[in-house]
Amino acid sequence: MAVVEVKELKKSFGPLEVLKRISFEVERNEVIAVIGPSGSGKSTMLRSLVHLEEVEGGTIAIQGENLVLNGQYAKAKHLKEITSKMGMVFQQFNLFPHLTVIQNLELAPKLVKQRAEEGYRKRAMDLLAKVGLSDKADVFPSKLSGGQKQRVAIARALMMNPEILLFDEPTSALDPELTGEVLDVMKELAKEHMTMIVVTHEMEFARDVADRVLFMDQGEIVEEGSPDELFGNPKKERTKAFLSRTMRNRSAE
Ligand code: ADP
Ligand code: MG
Repeated sequence: MAVVEVKELKKSFGPLEVLKRISFEVERNEVIAVIGPSGSGKSTMLRSLVHLEEVEGGTIAIQGENLVLNGQYAKAKHLKEITSKMGMVFQQFNLFPHLTVIQNLELAPKLVKQRAEEGYRKRAMDLLAKVGLSDKADVFPSKLSGGQKQRVAIARALMMNPEILLFDEPTSALDPELTGEVLDVMKELAKEHMTMIVVTHEMEFARDVADRVLFMDQGEIVEEGSPDELFGNPKKERTKAFLSRTMRNRSAE
């Protein structure tokens, strides 16, 4: 059974059709990279999975449970259960500035009272160690570099033991010299067989780490395949045009 199943997903903002009946599946332990030009609907697709956007039609099933089935959403209580299987990391980190690093990590589990309080302090420290930030537990986000903030955001997303991690351009807000430390943490998670959907402009990451790449353009999944197929032998004209544009921009840098 696919861990994520998306069928015929439809979403508009006013007259603008942003998702035009997109369908895809993600298997357990798969790393999916989603690439495509700005405005193609990548963020909207990702946000729909965690119910930060409401779709007008289609189906989203997470581990076989329907978040939305043919446009009908599950009951409110059930919605949370389903979306809590996913953790999300945003481009702009979204850390709470008035909370320390460890308080940022402890907040969500405390809100749902998952375990005894000591339980999540230990888990938070373990996760900070995992992302290389054990020494930053008690500082405020404003004292951290962008790369450190994003590593905290990843640790925070892991606090609830998600089955699936979603990343929306996690390195796009970072100075180039800070992207590596964030990508390294993501590579480590991939090695541990975390199921991940990563929207990214980092073509090297997509090529080296992803099991499958989806190319989105104008609200559609135009083409999908292994990194070798998609980068080495793209079949659709739109994919070829996007890749050659992206490569050209890079060599001009
Ligand atoms: P991407 O992440 O691929 O850049 P988005 O999903 O952010 O694309 O946006 C897809 C389209 O939907 C864009 O044209 C964007 O301007 C539009 N859009 C996104 N969010 C909103 C919103 N809240 N209201 C109106 N239009 C939106
Ligand atoms: Mg986006």
